[in-house]
Amino acid sequence: MSNLKFRAQIVCALFLLSMSAAAQMAPQRMAVTPRTAQPESTLFQVSTLDALLQGVYGSSMTLAELRQHGDFGLGAYEGIDGEMMLVDGHFYQMRFDGTMSEAPPDERTPFAAVTTFHPDVRFSVKAASLQQLSDLIDSVLPSPNLFYAIRVHGTFSVMNTRAIAKQFLPYVPLGQLIPTQSLFTYSNVVGTAVDIRSPAYITGINQVGHHYHFVSDDHKGGGHALSFTTGEVTVEVQTLRQYSVWLPLDEPFLRATLPFSGN
Ligand code: ZN
Repeated sequence: MSNLKFRAQIVCALFLLSMSAAAQMAPQRMAVTPRTAQPESTLFQVSTLDALLQGVYGSSMTLAELRQHGDFGLGAYEGIDGEMMLVDGHFYQMRFDGTMSEAPPDERTPFAAVTTFHPDVRFSVKAASLQQLSDLIDSVLPSPNLFYAIRVHGTFSVMNTRAIAKQFLPYVPLGQLIPTQSLFTYSNVVGTAVDIRSPAYITGINQVGHHYHFVSDDHKGGGHALSFTTGEVTVEVQTLRQYSVWLPLDEPFLRATLPFSGN
């Protein structure tokens, strides 16, 4: 038995073992469709979260280059010009003014995490909050110490997102921009939540735990998800055992004082 097949079977076995406990939770898992084991997958990341928090929003990698490393993921655009959702190879850009468009290949990103998506496990969930969904997903993962790409598609009865306005030099730390962010609420919206789950030991390099971005199927709404309640959604999970961090050679990154406490 190959390691890959063994890994996939462990995931499925853990999932089945945890079904009885999960049945008592509000979200109902309705079906499991294990997929054939795929080649090892890599989470490819541009820059670090601490650099972004400190205000390193400048140019790094073009979307055309980033696309070579995956078709699914999330991130930010140069100058924090909205929120990035990469779904099925398309880069969606949700801006501060509430408009969404596809970003051109020469657009740049100061921070992103992407992979080539081919899930190991699929199941359904009904009526779960962001926290309930995260807990449910965690209950079926083989370990909190790996990375996961998670795609949640279906109806969301409520989806609350945010986007930040484009910034210009000199950049200020991200924390100072949160009070100025735009908030968006969508009701009974059909779309995809892109979730990258990172382990606790990666603190400062990427966001620990679940990080959800959202794009509606009509490509008119989305952003960084602050909270939501699902209707009936399909959850697909891909285990990522390789992690690659691409570090910028831009001056702001080279001169940044890292780690940054956030104060
Ligand atoms: Zn985000």
